[in-house]
Amino acid sequence: MADSTTTVSVTGVSPLTGRTEEWMEQLLADPEQVAGLVSEHGSPVNVLDFAPLARNARELIDAAAEADVRLGVYVARKANKALGLVRSARDAGLGLDVASHAELRQCLELDVPGSAIIVTAAVKSRPLLEEAMGAGAVISLDNGDELEDVLELARERDEAPRVALRLASSDPDLRPTRFGLTAAAWDAALADAGVAGRLRIEGVHFHLDGYSAADRATVLREALAWVDRLREGGHDISFIDMGGGVPMRYLDDAAEWRAFWERLEGDAAGSLTWRGDRLGMVDPGADRPSPTVYPYWQRTVRGEWLREVLQAPAGERSTIAREISERGLELRCEPGRSVLDGCGLTLAEVVFRKATSDGVPIVGLHMNRTQVRSTSTDFMVDPRWVRPASAGEPSPAFEGFLVGAYCVEDELILRRKLRFAEGAARGDIAAFVNTGGYLMHILESASHQIPLAATVVREDGEWVRDGIDALA
Ligand SMILES: *Cc1c(COP(=O)(O)O)cnc(C)c1O
Repeated sequence: MADSTTTVSVTGVSPLTGRTEEWMEQLLADPEQVAGLVSEHGSPVNVLDFAPLARNARELIDAAAEADVRLGVYVARKANKALGLVRSARDAGLGLDVASHAELRQCLELDVPGSAIIVTAAVKSRPLLEEAMGAGAVISLDNGDELEDVLELARERDEAPRVALRLASSDPDLRPTRFGLTAAAWDAALADAGVAGRLRIEGVHFHLDGYSAADRATVLREALAWVDRLREGGHDISFIDMGGGVPMRYLDDAAEWRAFWERLEGDAAGSLTWRGDRLGMVDPGADRPSPTVYPYWQRTVRGEWLREVLQAPAGERSTIAREISERGLELRCEPGRSVLDGCGLTLAEVVFRKATSDGVPIVGLHMNRTQVRSTSTDFMVDPRWVRPASAGEPSPAFEGFLVGAYCVEDELILRRKLRFAEGAARGDIAAFVNTGGYLMHILESASHQIPLAATVVREDGEWVRDGIDALA
């Protein structure tokens, strides 16, 4: 099990200890293997083992089954670009949610059946629509112009494409959205276009910002009522797709999460973060203290969270679960982050130790900040630290920050101050754990013409280069 004695201690000044998987601990306990991955593939390197994906999806499917609900899991392809993700989802019998033509094509080339794919791309080119139609994938329609494009293709090809309608909630308590149309707007658009017989409208789709179970229940109630009306209008609706946003935890310890934000609130000297950054903090006592920082610890996640959604009230003394199963509907979801929980880590090598002109110690990593970053203001998980035999002489203990390769003052890898209890050495390797969902790829850039990081996946016990790097 975890043998952290072989890793060197680096923690946040206010620690945030990352949750790890057994495979990560085994790798981190072998500094020479870690160093070998970096020397073979360069720094940083993204390391993936997709074994936890099926288990994470199963947790959702089982939670739904307990409530008598059939759940279809369509893994959000955009959360990690490795082709290994597609293979693992396919082999686990899961579907895929694709956001571009390239994502769709790769899935089809890897023998994912079209019927196991939903196309949710926010902008849909004609070639994407043609390929989706040819493959028999469900297309989630966002707006009236897209409806027109699809109807035109349907006419040309003389076939009725499979579609879902993306629902924008009209509930005044939810945040307005740019995605989808309200049910009323869809009803009008469908009537105008005269879609009867020309489209197979099979489902109602939505995807919400944030991670609130109550918000999902609200829109599911709205979707259920709309399904009834669509069915009365002759459409053979078989599913409601509630999108992604299934929450996960990066940290096991709620106390560490709360302590960080309480300390940050009292940190008048700005000693906890880079130049006193407040990280968007609004309410230090809340589970999500900052609206711009992902809730790295949260109370209910995955299966338990889905149970909450399904047990929410609906109809007259009924529940969402009962209303779904009584209509013979399948519930679908498109989790990205939460099914990639435990699937990845990112390794980067130390190139320098120094101090800023005003004396703030910094450690330079051979990576840039887009390589361990999502839309969250910061990645709030402490790195693990590996010191291979090839590392140089470590510095004395100190507190400081990790910086990267882009030529801007604000090029911080993490915005929290870290304590290097055993110093830092050239050739040390920082390991960012649990970066499989979004943290590797969603914002990565090759600015300054620095190449993108290599993607390495575990296949039959071996680390091999993922095929996506050859396609890029
Ligand atoms: C991004 C996205 C998802 C995945 O969201 P997660 O938060 O990773 O679960 C699913 N569906 C759609 C339409 C998306 O845009």
